[in-house]
Amino acid sequence: MSRRENSVRVLLVEDEESFIDALTVGLTREGFEVVVARDGADALVRFAEAPVDVVLLDLMLPKMSGLDVCRALRAESEVPIIVVSAKGEEVDMVLLLEIGADDYVTKPYRLRELVARIRAVLRRREAGLDVVEEESVRRGSVRLDVESRRCFVRGEEVRLRKKEFALLRLLMENAGRVLTREVLIDRVWGSDYVGDTKTLDVHVKRLRTLIEEDPKKPRLLTTVRGVGYRFEVTRDE
Ligand code: CA
Repeated sequence: MSRRENSVRVLLVEDEESFIDALTVGLTREGFEVVVARDGADALVRFAEAPVDVVLLDLMLPKMSGLDVCRALRAESEVPIIVVSAKGEEVDMVLLLEIGADDYVTKPYRLRELVARIRAVLRRREAGLDVVEEESVRRGSVRLDVESRRCFVRGEEVRLRKKEFALLRLLMENAGRVLTREVLIDRVWGSDYVGDTKTLDVHVKRLRTLIEEDPKKPRLLTTVRGVGYRFEVTRDE
């Protein structure tokens, strides 16, 4: 499976070919990377294979129901799940929420609406970001000492300014997840944020010069087009 580093990864669990085709084309055009699973068992396999940022889950699936897939995913992950049902299908909303679905749409829907909902669940999920109370955060070749606010890259200390450290820490503690520009700005700067949105990019650029082997081709701190940034989960972890 080819993986584009810089897009939001959507796991599309759907058995209707016409939907698969239309959504794959539409979502790809919107900048998402689409991974397709045609039944529930396949969905769990795909999910285990590579991290995804959001799951679009059809309820009526062969072999395993969408509800069971939702339960199984939720048992091991906090990934946002948007449940999709056919028109006229009886859906127990309370049950859906109980088993951990984040949102719900009914076919047929417009691509624009779906994209808006995907972005909304990503934002909402970020509102409950992990706060890791550990003294040290390590991801691959980068280690942060939280107490002394020191950063080590491949064993060498690099000097970070206060906001750079806060930004890197937030991204590293949520490694593998895309964080939107809005959330990063809010969490790192809050009401201190002045000027245009370039301030964030300037900080990211400087962090890259410090932590990336090749800052022009970032592998750790990647841009997620149209959304924000992600600290990648590296293979050597
Ligand atoms: Ca179906």
